[in-house]
Amino acid sequence: MPEENSGVQEPAEETPDTPEENRPADDSKPNIGEISCSNCGAPLEYMQGEAVITCSYCGTTTMLADFKNIVTVESHYLLPPKVGRDEAIGIASGWLKKGFYKSRELPNKVHWKQTEARVLPYWVVRCTASTSWSGQQERTQTIGEGKNKTTKKYWEPVQGRFSEDYTWPVYAREDTSEFWGIRNIEPGMQSVFPDWGKFIFRFGGSKRASNKNMLEGKADFSIEDLKKNNMHEHIVNGQIVQDRAENNARSRITELHHKQAESKATRVTDIDTTVDVQGVDLVYMPIWELVYNYSGKDYRVLVDASRQEVMSGEAPVGKWAKATIFDIIFLILAAVFFAIGAGSDAAWGWVAGGIFSAGAVAYTVWTATMKE
Ligand SMILES: [Zn+2]
Repeated sequence: MPEENSGVQEPAEETPDTPEENRPADDSKPNIGEISCSNCGAPLEYMQGEAVITCSYCGTTTMLADFKNIVTVESHYLLPPKVGRDEAIGIASGWLKKGFYKSRELPNKVHWKQTEARVLPYWVVRCTASTSWSGQQERTQTIGEGKNKTTKKYWEPVQGRFSEDYTWPVYAREDTSEFWGIRNIEPGMQSVFPDWGKFIFRFGGSKRASNKNMLEGKADFSIEDLKKNNMHEHIVNGQIVQDRAENNARSRITELHHKQAESKATRVTDIDTTVDVQGVDLVYMPIWELVYNYSGKDYRVLVDASRQEVMSGEAPVGKWAKATIFDIIFLILAAVFFAIGAGSDAAWGWVAGGIFSAGAVAYTVWTATMKE
């Protein structure tokens, strides 16, 4: 080992080339820290990396901004949960039979395997973003008449200004794949996933998450509200502190505004975005993650315990939805070939049309006998 290790580096035993078996035994264990609640004094355990810690006794949230900077988060809210485990399954069951793509019988045929409560931390950045931009717009001008007609291109200077208010949510943990569905509920992401099985005509059935104001329906954080639905022991601590969440929102909104500005002219040369932050709130969102089994396969559903609705879910596509799609496609093809047959007196048109019609009928008969 060389002697000239600088003081800031890790101890020599932990360098990556040290064989696994020579490392200290506690190296593999997750690092657990402990502080006392600043309000009630209860011991609060937290995992390494967690910095926004909520006391499950009194509901006070402590933020470890750095070693010397421990603060209580004052602007601290909860979307109060209104449903427990059984009601969450009821909401998910209702969702399972809703819509064209799902079988009405589905809720009777699934087996609910697993339910998990989670109270997830989000920072909500309230702000106004304004952007001024300038650039050039390409225009065309036609001059002359008849044979002398020519089209000329020219650039016209353009500029504009737009402004919008946001309540921008920032999930307070690093890894959005740690729990199922976190990514699916971000605005614009795919949130509903139809399972088509082996069926090849996969049209529709999926859905994207809408942009909801997370502050709507918020109440002061109350551990009692969580206890009512047995969720108080499932508060997930945050890892991202307030300043970082604010910076994250600033850069995401600036990015969004730049994209919007760039779509307003052919060439945008100057963009200036200012994000004026009015406040940052910590909001806890209670959810139920449910796993059900259908026909040997597991599917997941995420229920918003506060809004009492499914936020994201996976579901098998019903056999009659498939048959309907199949028949529509085959009957359109049949009609096309019948038209060819009728129009050009070609016998093959009638034959092909007949084959596709028979295909649609056969698929319908097969579907009727198929077990779902
Ligand atoms: Zn406490």
